[in-house]
Amino acid sequence: MLRTLEERDIRFVRLWFTDVLGTLKSVSVAPAELEAAFDEGIGFDGSAIEGFARVHESDMVAMPDPTTFQVFPFEGGGSGESARMFCDILLPDGTPSWADPRHVLRRMLSKAAEKGFTFYTHPEIEFFLLESLPPDGAAPVPVDAGGYFDHTTHAVARDFRRQAVLALERIGISVEFSHHEVAPGQQEIDLRYADALTTADNIMTFRHVVKEVALTQSVEASFMPKPFTDQPGSGMHTHLSLFEGERNAFHDGGDPMKLSKVARAFIAGLLVHAREYTAVTNQWVNSYKRLFPQALPDRITESPAYVCWGHLNRSALVRVPAYGKPNSARVEVRSLDSACNPYLAFAVMLGAGLKGIEEGYELPPGAEDDVWALSAAERKAMGYESLPQNLSEAIDVLASSELMAEILGEHVFDFFLRNKRQEWEQFRHQVTPYERQRYLGLM
Ligand code: GLU
Ligand code: MG
Ligand code: MG
Repeated sequence: MLRTLEERDIRFVRLWFTDVLGTLKSVSVAPAELEAAFDEGIGFDGSAIEGFARVHESDMVAMPDPTTFQVFPFEGGGSGESARMFCDILLPDGTPSWADPRHVLRRMLSKAAEKGFTFYTHPEIEFFLLESLPPDGAAPVPVDAGGYFDHTTHAVARDFRRQAVLALERIGISVEFSHHEVAPGQQEIDLRYADALTTADNIMTFRHVVKEVALTQSVEASFMPKPFTDQPGSGMHTHLSLFEGERNAFHDGGDPMKLSKVARAFIAGLLVHAREYTAVTNQWVNSYKRLFPQALPDRITESPAYVCWGHLNRSALVRVPAYGKPNSARVEVRSLDSACNPYLAFAVMLGAGLKGIEEGYELPPGAEDDVWALSAAERKAMGYESLPQNLSEAIDVLASSELMAEILGEHVFDFFLRNKRQEWEQFRHQVTPYERQRYLGLM
């Protein structure tokens, strides 16, 4: 690594980590300092980072993870390339920090490993390309008027996707598909599956790269879950699978649906605890504007609202996609949005699935119908609960979950609840343009 830095004349190495809310943090070090950084880490004031520490226990250490070293060839316009590494956060005594989302995920991955499982994930990341980000809260202008799979000629989006995919591939992030999504300006890029820690790191890198590439084309990228009232939001459907060595533990050739007992219990765990982990997979006030079916003039938005699973069923929270090869057996969770903290989101889903396996949860029958079209009474009869309808409800269900407290660890759990309650209180006293339009003249 030091040789690469020297040969390529790299002047800065960025050390990255992620706060509890999923914001990327970065500190640059000169290559000369790197050896010391590997020995002792880089000290910083944890109390200045969301969710990391209280003031009296604020010293933290960022310890670079050399397996994540990557040269960024496209930054700095030719001369002066940069490189980055993700860090693990340690307490001054060298033990892992309970506040580090990477550590929360690592802890769950070790739990899976004790049972012989490796956890793989594959995200489909949706986002918007916009002309600009209006500072006053006005609706932004999408860069094009395209729709699903449109091959928008002469539009920014196509060139953008090409540049973004090339940039990602250059830094070792494999892209499987990319296409225009349903809404004007909306794009989707799907990353190839990898172990969950690598994928979470890749998602953080992805957000950064996509925003940078957008800027080079004088547009802005946003991962906000639902920027437009009358357009679909940006989901991050994520495909999950467990492997035992080289073998996909979700596959059973003898089962009519080719789903193993492990897969069934895992899905059952995802469903039983879905309401509890939604505050983590959908962490913003705005997330809940996406998370219900909305009939638009010519279509319905395809985001889940009810806790059920189905084979091929896009209205279900958990979908079992059709697959060919045994090793591609997987389940797709459709609630996550593109603005979640991927480390925490993967940790809570894995924890819920493992709980299903440990306790031998029974999988209820799959949903065959379009769940969105059922009446409330029909859904009740089928036993499909609603996902939380707003952040406040999601926080309350999370707060009462022993399993989530255990997965997130007491510190992250408490910080998260406190922070999200504040967010809800701030939102709740806002008088919105909608209310003025509706009531000023009426009353
Ligand atoms: N944009 C939709 C969502 O919010 C997903 C559309 C799709 O890829 O099926 O989840
Ligand atoms: Mg999509
Ligand atoms: Mg999908």
